[in-house]
Amino acid sequence: MPPEWVSAMRAESCSCNFQVNGFMVKKTDLSKGVQSENRAECYVCRRAKKNCLCDSIKPFSTKMRFVILMHAKEARRQKTGTARLAKLCLKNAELLIGTDFTRNERVNSLIQDPSYNPFVLYPGPKAVSFKTLGDDALKSEEKTLLIFVIDGTWACAKRLLGKSQNIRALPRISFSRSYISQFTIKKQPKEHCVSTIEAIRYLCEEAEEAGYEKLNAQSETLMVVFKKMVDTQINYQKGKARRGG
Ligand SMILES: [Zn+2]
Repeated sequence: MPPEWVSAMRAESCSCNFQVNGFMVKKTDLSKGVQSENRAECYVCRRAKKNCLCDSIKPFSTKMRFVILMHAKEARRQKTGTARLAKLCLKNAELLIGTDFTRNERVNSLIQDPSYNPFVLYPGPKAVSFKTLGDDALKSEEKTLLIFVIDGTWACAKRLLGKSQNIRALPRISFSRSYISQFTIKKQPKEHCVSTIEAIRYLCEEAEEAGYEKLNAQSETLMVVFKKMVDTQINYQKGKARRGG
């Protein structure tokens, strides 16, 4: 397990995308019931219609099943984080919102389902990777890998894991190498931070290298969508700088 990945979840917390999200939230004042065409929001990707990313999203199925656990605080703060985009790209993924999943029926039924081999994508000294998983897990015909991905700031993710006894008890899976985030916005996160959508993409890649997935480059859509999101934010920042804001 690469120690560099310890703060991998922080990319979402590095506030790079919050400014745009904040901007969009402010601009989309639903309470007034008046939305200009420019300000209207796409109800699929939850972005301003002019920045809608739906055309770039090419949903694909993975053999492993992803369950994204979004911290409730994060869900309130950012409607348009990369977790929601990842969910739109993955046909067989689901996104659940909460702070403590200990008694969450859906989570518990998935964990107890004998057809799954559950893991939480989280670094730790005992975390395995697709390189070290072993043939029992990789070649099992009875059990599908079930991967819980915690989305949220590093502090929120840690708290969520601390509270959710069922998730905390799961074996951890992490990456076999370190990655550099493609986040290149104003407040640059540390190089080893990766966002939720990037984390899923890299895990797909490592799963493919291990022969578990056969995605034939379909997971590239995760990065295409992510890069478009980043570009939109860069353009927004540039516009803001020009306006002197
Ligand atoms: Zn859209």
